[in-house]
Amino acid sequence: MQIIDGKATADEIKKEIAIEVAEMKASGQKTPHLVAILVGNNGASETYVANKVKSCEELGFNSTLLRFDTTISESELLDEVKKVNDNDDMDGLIVQLPLPDHINPDKIMETIDPRKDVDGFHPINIGRMAKGLPAYISATPQGVLDLLERYNIETSGKHCVVVGRSQIVGLPMSILMQRNLKIGNCTVTLTHSKTKDLAEVCATADILIAALGRPEFITEKFVKEGAVVIDVGLTRVEDSTKKSGFALKGDVKYDEVAPKCSYITPVPKGVGPMTIVSLMKNTLLSAKGVIYSK
Ligand code: NAP
Repeated sequence: MQIIDGKATADEIKKEIAIEVAEMKASGQKTPHLVAILVGNNGASETYVANKVKSCEELGFNSTLLRFDTTISESELLDEVKKVNDNDDMDGLIVQLPLPDHINPDKIMETIDPRKDVDGFHPINIGRMAKGLPAYISATPQGVLDLLERYNIETSGKHCVVVGRSQIVGLPMSILMQRNLKIGNCTVTLTHSKTKDLAEVCATADILIAALGRPEFITEKFVKEGAVVIDVGLTRVEDSTKKSGFALKGDVKYDEVAPKCSYITPVPKGVGPMTIVSLMKNTLLSAKGVIYSK
């Protein structure tokens, strides 16, 4: 069994990005610029956005954090998004979710210029991804693809079972794993809360990707001997032994499942660190005009 070290892989990719950005700057090209919009002061969102800003600093990107009170109206927030769309210096825009109840997240996402949608949530990017056209791919699924690639895991012809069909993880993951590309060409089964006999279905997977948000739900009986197990789940559970008062748990019962796997991602330090790296990669692609020409 081999542990897939997401932290080490993310650090490696970060170094590659930092070198490329330094070269871009030295040759007089523009510095990639990521903008994050944060509404309110939800604790987890604050941490996620702070980590994204910190990554920008580490990699030599410019970043702008636009903070708004929860009293901001939907139309005011839409105006802020449009201002970023119109600013040629700004390459990527992310709006941290969740938003307050009076703001429709779909409306906000659809107002982001698809050419700056480095989270890959805009319907145009999702549609282009499904058609196999150049697109910003949502960060977490892209991180999983990079892990599979960097660990030289064969995917072609394999049966991949994805658990969870969310717009940001499970659904794009299932589309990506069936594409006719180096990491792809799987026969994919997409499962969800209404799937019958989930454990039996999962136990037929050569590659099992768990993204359901139920801590330690995937036990030994869900996993075939020799399977590759990717644990996207990340849930805070109370833990009085920790200084913070909580521990992060994945969707996979690691100790029980790991001995059966050929490869497995741990939690933390598995898929998690790759997500921010993918966001940075998308911002770099935007600055270079790779996906959509400038
Ligand atoms: P989500 O929007 O809540 O979607 C969960 C999906 O899992 C839904 O499709 C749901 O089915 C399915 N599901 C829930 N319970 C199930 C069960 N008992 N059996 C089978 N399917 C079940 O969650 P998400 O945003 O995709 O996130 C999933 C997990 O990944 C969370 O723990 C989240 O924190 C984590 N995550 C991690 C990262 C990272 O950077 N590592 C990034 C994003 C998300 P229905 O559609 O039928 O309701």
